[in-house]
Amino acid sequence: MESAIFDYVIVGAGTAGCVLADRLSANGKHSVLLLEAGPSDNYFWIHLPIGYAKTMFHPVYNWGFYTEPEPRMNKRQVYWPRGRGLGGSSSINGLIYIRGQHEDYDQWAALGNAGWGWRDVLPYFKRCELNSRGASEYHGGDGPLACSDIRERHPLMDAIIAGANELGVPANEDFNGARQEGVGYFQLFTRNGWRCSGAVAYLKPARNRPNLRIETDAQATSLVWDGKRAAGVRYRQHGVESEVRAAREVLLAAGALQSPQLLQLSGVGRASFLQQMGIPVTHDLPGVGENLQDHLQARVMFKVKRPITINDDLRNLTGRMRMGWQWLTRRSGPLAIGINYGGMFARALPEAKTPDVQFHFAALSAEMAGAKTHPWSGCTFSMCQLRPASRGTVMIKSRDPLAAPAMQPNYLSSELDCRTMVEGVKLARKLARTRALSELIGDEYRPGGEVKTDDEVLEFVRNYGATIFHPVGTCKMGSDAQAVVDKSLRVHGIAGLRVVDASIMPTLVSGNTNAPVVMIAEKASDMILADAAR
Ligand SMILES: Cc1cc2nc3c(=O)[nH]c(=O)nc-3n(C[C@H](O)[C@H](O)[C@H](O)COP(=O)(O)OP(=O)(O)OC[C@H]3O[C@@H](n4cnc5c(N)ncnc54)[C@H](O)[C@@H]3O)c2cc1C
Repeated sequence: MESAIFDYVIVGAGTAGCVLADRLSANGKHSVLLLEAGPSDNYFWIHLPIGYAKTMFHPVYNWGFYTEPEPRMNKRQVYWPRGRGLGGSSSINGLIYIRGQHEDYDQWAALGNAGWGWRDVLPYFKRCELNSRGASEYHGGDGPLACSDIRERHPLMDAIIAGANELGVPANEDFNGARQEGVGYFQLFTRNGWRCSGAVAYLKPARNRPNLRIETDAQATSLVWDGKRAAGVRYRQHGVESEVRAAREVLLAAGALQSPQLLQLSGVGRASFLQQMGIPVTHDLPGVGENLQDHLQARVMFKVKRPITINDDLRNLTGRMRMGWQWLTRRSGPLAIGINYGGMFARALPEAKTPDVQFHFAALSAEMAGAKTHPWSGCTFSMCQLRPASRGTVMIKSRDPLAAPAMQPNYLSSELDCRTMVEGVKLARKLARTRALSELIGDEYRPGGEVKTDDEVLEFVRNYGATIFHPVGTCKMGSDAQAVVDKSLRVHGIAGLRVVDASIMPTLVSGNTNAPVVMIAEKASDMILADAAR
């Protein structure tokens, strides 16, 4: 490397790291190094939305983690994909654009994080956004991150909307506007039929700046300390160990699983645990790796009475050619969508004040997300509880920085979570039986007719439940004993170090997590630059 000192060293070029690299290098005043463990993103299937299925189990672009055996999921180890390479998880995710509920952020503020309420964060959601609908009270029209409408309606999704209306769930044309509740089509992180990942939106325009250096295949192995100040990062690239210094700050953006891992490997975490692992304690911070939260999904699948599903298109040459033609001529159709056409935010429990479940509707079915589609016409109503009470942990298993940490989400460890999942599955079944869907929805494939009682439904969730890919909260923001970062995302008790990624969420937002992470990094970049200007 030409220079082993940069003003800022960012670890991880995922959703958050890409935003930081762009924003911190934009004024030309600061030198920035971005370290990414994975490769560049020049793999065709990252960029075509339907390539989701190709990257779901990819050995290079996906870390392909598994949880520890889950005690309340019949000891199953749940597959946890995570993006690896430029763009991180935004290069392999389902492209769905959801911000969460306004109340989520007001709750963050109420927990003692002034400046993170809905009204405070809305400007950052708008600043990042290049919405195909243009600018408005709730949306931005000239940011880097493209968010687009799905160009073509699908008869199944239209019938789902009508069916949900029968159940009293209103239509919603904008889940990211005044209110989230309702049913409708999603907006996606796409531009003209191509994925708009963090790397495409933020890194591509910035990567030729002389003050930004991007190193791929460079995995951070520990932080370098100067007392209780983060002075730099040690990393491994093509088998060679190097060290780089940070004149101003080290910014951890390795995601909710690997940011706490790197802190623990570097001696920041619960002292007794670190000692047990044989790691010298730099700073006793018990919350590192605690407070893990994730959205557990139950995938309710039905046979469809007409051959209008993506299963059908994929099964024969004419269907595949039609999909290709739709994409080539109109940048529409399944290739431009990936998986889900639309969603629904509804209340499963009577006491819920705001939607407590989210549905993702796919005009396809498969044994698991991203797997080969069934050889019959099928669809999936994927349902998740929005604000689980279960809490888990991410803890290193060894001192080897290349070994995966132990991930233990403890799904279904609260009664509320069990009840919400059961009622959510029942709501999916109720929706499938509406008049509007009677012409299209056939037999229930899973859970299947033999699953009847609430206990049987819960057993189905235990046997088949999966992640909807939103682990967060493992370096939570706050000022209580479990908090890892303060409201400026600075690590408590340590100088020159912030965590800026999904791990800082004190509570999981009510929706998909990519847009919230972009917002977090946008806001962080302002705080970092303001500190630099002081
Ligand atoms: C399969 C899948 C589908 C999803 N679908 C959606 C969706 O449709 N909509 C939505 O809003 N959200 C979705 N998400 C979630 C969303 O993409 C993530 O919440 C978000 O990308 C997290 O951003 P992050 O910056 O915290 O972490 P990431 O984007 O995961 O970035 C972390 C980066 O750090 C790198 N890294 C890790 N350790 C090191 C190290 N030691 N040294 C150097 N680099 C390191 C990783 O390789 C990675 O590039 C999905 C996620 C997945 C995995």
